[in-house]
Amino acid sequence: MDFPPGLVTRFQEAKQILVLTGAGISAESGIPTFREAQTGLWSQYKPEDLASPLAFNQDPKKVWEWYAWRRKLISIAKPNAGHQALVAMQKHIPAFTLVTQNIDNLHQQAGSKDIIELHGNIFRARCLDENRVLLSWDNKSDMPPHCPQCGGILRPDVVWFGESLPHNLLQKAFSAAQTCNLVLVIGTSGLVQPAASIPLVALEHGAIFVEINPGRTPLSGDAHYCLTGPSGILLPALVAAAWADV
Ligand code: NAD
Repeated sequence: MDFPPGLVTRFQEAKQILVLTGAGISAESGIPTFREAQTGLWSQYKPEDLASPLAFNQDPKKVWEWYAWRRKLISIAKPNAGHQALVAMQKHIPAFTLVTQNIDNLHQQAGSKDIIELHGNIFRARCLDENRVLLSWDNKSDMPPHCPQCGGILRPDVVWFGESLPHNLLQKAFSAAQTCNLVLVIGTSGLVQPAASIPLVALEHGAIFVEINPGRTPLSGDAHYCLTGPSGILLPALVAAAWADV
């Protein structure tokens, strides 16, 4: 595969890379992005109308049922060649920060390390009373489920529309943005803030900005390089061109 002149060298020479991923990197694992139509049972709802504190207050059972459906869909998915290529890239870069907006756990499953999960993880629940995070809970007998320790109502441990992102994680992501040589943005529509500002901060601090996406996004105009196509094809090709080990 041919890449634009100079691009592969940028990766080979980078001492610090920040990668930001969105739902698009998992599309080839069979997990629909939010911009694609919701299928089947849930097609009548928009994600924005279910993934919100208001929706949860009004009908926690419905919100939990939607998350149970998504968890099932996600739990049969496997990391794809794009996730794997990032694991390989991490081995070659002295300082590598992976920030994801995904909640699907596929970067972890692929073997990436120290992932900054800005939007939480669908395989965790959190107790509303004591903020306790749980990796397993009883979601069969009780809806919404309750915390086995304090009895508080449990919610999915994900960030909903209208909620703030965890401050410490944002700080880590933005501080990497200020020092990286190269920022690589993969499969994100660039519409969800504050994640969409991360590459712009990197750019302001002198980083090379590379975007991988089959379509154009509001960030494309700022990128030095736009690689147009699916990340499951482009990322392994890029890593192979730079380090010949994928
Ligand atoms: P998005 O749905 O808004 O946009 C997805 C982007 O991926 C689009 O720009 C699309 O062109 C691109 N894309 C589609 N197929 C691709 C491919 N094969 N390779 C590379 N790019 C591809 O997603 P977003 O920007 O991540 O933001 C929406 C929110 O949706 C996030 O908060 C995220 O938490 C949530 N979400 C997560 C998952 C997941 O965890 N897998 C799935 C759906 C939504």
